[in-house]
Amino acid sequence: MRDVIGQRRLLERLGAHALRGEVAHAYGLSGPRSIGKRTAALRFAQTLNCEVPGVTAGGCGACRGCRLMEAGTHPDVILVTRSDDRRDIAIEQVRAMQEELSLRPLEGRRRVVIVDDAAELSEHAEVALLKTLEEPPSHAVVLLLTPTPVRLLDTIRSRIQSLAFRLVPTAEIAEALHKRFGAAAEKHAGPAAGRPGLAITLSTDEAARMERRRLDNEFYKLVGSGLTDRFAWAAALADDADSRRRTRQIEKRLVEWGVLVRDAAVLAQGLDRPVRPDRAAETSKLAASVGPRDLVDTALLMEKLRRDLDFNANARAMLELFALRVPFSVALRAAG
Ligand SMILES: [Zn+2]
Repeated sequence: MRDVIGQRRLLERLGAHALRGEVAHAYGLSGPRSIGKRTAALRFAQTLNCEVPGVTAGGCGACRGCRLMEAGTHPDVILVTRSDDRRDIAIEQVRAMQEELSLRPLEGRRRVVIVDDAAELSEHAEVALLKTLEEPPSHAVVLLLTPTPVRLLDTIRSRIQSLAFRLVPTAEIAEALHKRFGAAAEKHAGPAAGRPGLAITLSTDEAARMERRRLDNEFYKLVGSGLTDRFAWAAALADDADSRRRTRQIEKRLVEWGVLVRDAAVLAQGLDRPVRPDRAAETSKLAASVGPRDLVDTALLMEKLRRDLDFNANARAMLELFALRVPFSVALRAAG
């Protein structure tokens, strides 16, 4: 599909179906943040509503319809997303979408709804959405974007065609960065750890690069600190009264740090295949001072905590457990 990095086979199939008009009423695009779900959803909508005859997968990108969709102003593409001042996607937003969706397409062939992120639907909003999935208008295509389908109601999951997005090989990301931003951008492929959206952000946004470094250093500092500091860290992070923001903050750390621990675990086993080659120095210190088994256990715990994040009501207890389990490395004491 035009201008999407990764998921080639999945998107080729989806694009071919869209071109033949074999389109399901609802899809669930799942996968880690910054992996390309939103871009793929947009390209899918462009495939369905591009105005050029003999349209290609992803749309032409140049016609009026494609340009309006790219800008988010096409009348047949409805984006449902959480506004910054709210904790979730409200039922009123779903109702407004349903009203629009009941009308025939104005300019294109299909009305496309993109819900991003579907895990942020309020309970009532999710139940309301179910009605659309049960009796979709014939011209409707609903795309639900979410990190993991587990976060959706069973009754919703059973009505969507599931499309799982996977991490993208570094070489593929590097090649795409080279094409878009020149050879110098290739170095951001490794640090993006399989996520093209993050690679693009790191290539173009200095503030994002600094934020990333800050987060990495927070981890290395934690690894080099004793119990008192670790518990203070847990308390500070758990202190956010906005539970969704707190969950995102914790999730971000578990995802990013999970990669750092994974790299050290693999290196400690004698294999040098880092996902984050830019952190090779810290990775080798960690691998040299902590046993492979401890590192693997930590990586598994982080994976489990991340999965359970939505069901874990006591953030502080969870973070304290994590703080206790993070391996201690004297070698990293001065880091950060
Ligand atoms: Zn077009």
